[in-house]
Amino acid sequence: MKQMLVALNIGSSIAEQMANIRQEFEGGNYEKLLLHIYSGLSEEQFTSHVAQALHKIFPDGLIVGTMSAGEIMDGKLIPQGVLISAILLENTDVRVMRYDNVKGNEYSVGGKILKDLIAIPNVRAAELLFPGSEMDTRPFFEALNQCRRDIPIWGAYSGGHMVNAPVHFIFDATGILYNSVLVTAFAGDDFHINIDKTIGWEPLGLPFRVTKAEGNRLIELDGHPASEIYEKFLQIDRSLHNNAEEGYAFPLLAKYRGEEWLRSAFHIEPDGSLNLHGFVTEGTEIQLSYGNPTNIVRLVNQRLEDIRDFKPQVVLLYSCVVRKAFWENLVNIEMEPFASLCSTAGFHTWGEVCRNAITGEVVEHNVTLLSIAMREGDKPEEEFPEVRVDDFMLNGQAALLRRLTSLVYTTMGELQKTYNDLRKLNKKLTVLAERDPLTDLYNRGKITELICNALDNPDPQNYPVSIIMVDVDHFKKVNDVYGHHIGDLVLQDIAHLLKCVAETSGGYAGRWGGEEFFILLPNTDDREAIMAAEHLRLSVSNHPFPAVNKMTISLGIITVQERSDKKEVFFKVDRALYQAKEEGRNRTVQAR
Ligand code: GH3
Ligand code: MG
Ligand code: MG
Repeated sequence: MKQMLVALNIGSSIAEQMANIRQEFEGGNYEKLLLHIYSGLSEEQFTSHVAQALHKIFPDGLIVGTMSAGEIMDGKLIPQGVLISAILLENTDVRVMRYDNVKGNEYSVGGKILKDLIAIPNVRAAELLFPGSEMDTRPFFEALNQCRRDIPIWGAYSGGHMVNAPVHFIFDATGILYNSVLVTAFAGDDFHINIDKTIGWEPLGLPFRVTKAEGNRLIELDGHPASEIYEKFLQIDRSLHNNAEEGYAFPLLAKYRGEEWLRSAFHIEPDGSLNLHGFVTEGTEIQLSYGNPTNIVRLVNQRLEDIRDFKPQVVLLYSCVVRKAFWENLVNIEMEPFASLCSTAGFHTWGEVCRNAITGEVVEHNVTLLSIAMREGDKPEEEFPEVRVDDFMLNGQAALLRRLTSLVYTTMGELQKTYNDLRKLNKKLTVLAERDPLTDLYNRGKITELICNALDNPDPQNYPVSIIMVDVDHFKKVNDVYGHHIGDLVLQDIAHLLKCVAETSGGYAGRWGGEEFFILLPNTDDREAIMAAEHLRLSVSNHPFPAVNKMTISLGIITVQERSDKKEVFFKVDRALYQAKEEGRNRTVQAR
């Protein structure tokens, strides 16, 4: 396999410029010729003319063309024009299939492609070129997801250099195609491919949840119009197209099935919803993001390692137009090293497509660099050169950007730490504010609040509610005879028994003050409440208290069937407890 590249000189003969490729193809031992045309010209007639001319020169050549937002030749962005990549293959069966009339029929077209692909003997991979941002890609991909996992599918959305280009198209020798998909399938034992994506954008600011979305329209984040995220944090107003490149530079980042994906917003609707290049689903958590040069360089270097190991003969780079805008005059920094391994070409796209490494789903990405490494035959013996991104190129504005992003990410990390510390502290304070330090039961404030809320609940479903008031019998004597320290231990033991009973009945226990306690039992009738109270009374009287040995308690109970006056309830239960004391202690009395 061999790739030959021509940046078309528009003024001179196409045939002459193709002479070298023709000579190589006719003189060599090649079976197939695949011609990619990456056209940076929105001029439709000329573009179509180039495809027809190539067809005349190479009648057996397979021609796939796409509108391009930046032409990449030998790993470098070249002046806007037409780039022709000729891939000459020795033993690989390459087929180009065209599917028309896609809009509105995305699922069935996806199904047809799938059927045709798997019918090709020994199919190894497929490339899709199409005006994706104009189509409903979700059903299209859903159909393709069924494709065998070991067949890589990659692709790109066509789109021009202009940010708001009115049309996006692809083309072949028959003409310009606005509503079609071009599929290039590679088959045969000799064909090897290695595809991966490189991103390197990092989250900025707080996460938001997608609360409303429809297809490629992101309507609400945390219940607010989605565009507020751009207005509030980046001061990009509703006429996003005026700030399009700035908007694109801060795409929305999320995790989808274990992998990162990004979405660029390209338009804000009057209702504040965002039009994205790619679908988004409700429930997804997203964050604004920005390119971190240090991270990008690290990831590209990793990818270069992988490709070097694969020993490719051809590399295609399909890179998002956002990356081009982000790097500006340094755009080659992340592409050029690939060309040191082998012939490298491609284009800047409006959307990148590849399969999820974990689930095999066909997923669309933005802001992503797809590198497609191909080879015919076994790995050669020869070692490939070690190549890395030249960091020293990160000077001037990019160096400042690198420091600035470092500042932002470090500050965010610190803030996140402070936020986490505050949350922990807040939890501790809540516990302190609600608990009685001696017994660890709810304190008077909290148990009163719980009881009042239960009595004040207008919903009949929450009744009956029972309340038990507890007072320790002859507790003063414990203090007098054994001292306060022993008194405290007794209170702690009793509190523990109270807590056990309250919790097994789905209730709450609190210390009212001194040696008096309350238990709140929601959804508990009088019979159940008496059982719980008696159980508690017996477990106290049977408990072997240290030093003191035997202790008893007296209990008052009240059960209410509906929303009730709090004062009255407290008064009645206190009176029941008083009665228990009067009648000789160590007993339970039900309020009337
Ligand atoms: P009765 O059976 O009538 O309830 O008699 P009693 O002795 O339990 O009642 P009284 O109200 O006379 O005494 C309560 C005692 O509880 C008085 C107080 O010293 C003691 N007390 C209150 N809070 C604490 C505490 O936190 N620790 C200790 N050790 N004693 C406490
Ligand atoms: Mg008392
Ligand atoms: Mg007492």
